[in-house]
Amino acid sequence: MDLQTIALHAGYEKDSQATMAVPIYMTTAYEFRDVAHAANRFTLRDVGSIYTRLTNPTTDVFEKRFAELEGGEAAIATSSGMSAIFYAIANSAEAGDNIVCARQLYGGSLTQMAHTLKRFGIEARFFDVHHAAEMESLIDDKTKVIFFESLTNPSIDVADIETLSAIANKYGILSVVDNTVATPVLCRPFDWGVDISVHSTSKYTTGQGLALGGIMVERKNLVQKLKGNPRYPHFNEPDASYHGLVYVDVPFPPFSLRARFSLLRDLGATPSPFNSWLFIQGMETLSLRMQEHSKNALALAEFLESYPKVKKVNYPGLKSNSNYANAQKYFNGAYSGLLSFEVETLEEATKIVNATKLYSIVANIGDSKSIITHPASTTHQQLTQEELIACGVPVGLIRISCGLESIKDLIADIKQALEV
Ligand code: PLP
Repeated sequence: MDLQTIALHAGYEKDSQATMAVPIYMTTAYEFRDVAHAANRFTLRDVGSIYTRLTNPTTDVFEKRFAELEGGEAAIATSSGMSAIFYAIANSAEAGDNIVCARQLYGGSLTQMAHTLKRFGIEARFFDVHHAAEMESLIDDKTKVIFFESLTNPSIDVADIETLSAIANKYGILSVVDNTVATPVLCRPFDWGVDISVHSTSKYTTGQGLALGGIMVERKNLVQKLKGNPRYPHFNEPDASYHGLVYVDVPFPPFSLRARFSLLRDLGATPSPFNSWLFIQGMETLSLRMQEHSKNALALAEFLESYPKVKKVNYPGLKSNSNYANAQKYFNGAYSGLLSFEVETLEEATKIVNATKLYSIVANIGDSKSIITHPASTTHQQLTQEELIACGVPVGLIRISCGLESIKDLIADIKQALEV
């Protein structure tokens, strides 16, 4: 089925009420018929609802639909993009292990990797997303994850997904890609050998800045990579916290099964069923919106590129952009709504951002309303000067998340702001 059809129909079996819209099951828990029924649910002999921290019928539709849209086998929804990223790593690594991550990451991901994971005893080693050899040189026996963004925020680089995941496969390491900015409709990480994708669904999935959420998707047949893999004993040995369950020996996608019955159970970053329902609504128009976001962003990038005061424009759909070749290979002809441009100084950047009228100054992306951000003073404020340069965020950088307004109005507003 085409992606637009999947986004409208997948994962929803109508119940006795046959509602066209997926119902919101706003409940904390579910009644068991008797003790045996309850016991069977807990041992997974009967896979069904126990408690919404673990499963919920509305969230289940969202997970199935998103997994199918991404071309994966199963998905676990979480309460934010950050928790989806944390769960993908916590499901792979433990104290004493390391992960190898691209430097060009969303600021929150960078701080999670460099600082928070360190306190859990997991070391993050960073590579330039365009230097696969540097990435390979950081790998050792304790490396459990290779992590990068397909389309990076805010530096707007396109990763060479096939090369990076081939190196991960050479060493039997799990590759995890944050596909938030690209979305499943523009870029297909599993087609290029990636194992796990993560998304902040707070962005293009909800689409109108309505709800915070995340999702982690497991590719098809990941069990083959995990079974007998000495890097991942926790998938191959009995889990003492789950009656000795061996995740690769049961007929469920093992990465998602462990994330649900270990991480969601014990850490509990579960989405509200209402938010899952909002994401289902957003998915219905995702591919239509992504085409429009991309068209607007390309036109705005072309305008900015022609403007003398602008030092550099970063948008992978521009022929002049160093990511253009990767974008042609990994994207389906549209390149999402995120672009950035650079002016000479911090003062100039501040003046331009303050002078816009149509663009909202917001620390978010992927809204239908256009957003303008100065990363060095907001999303990347916690980073040192060296970290800022290393992850591609100079002080004169302005990021735009191009919305769905008329492109004529978007260009006119940025033009008057540049002229102030
Ligand atoms: N990944 C990317 C690429 C992001 O841009 C963001 C947030 O901006 C996140 C992850 C974190 O998502 P959330 O805000 O839903 O926790």
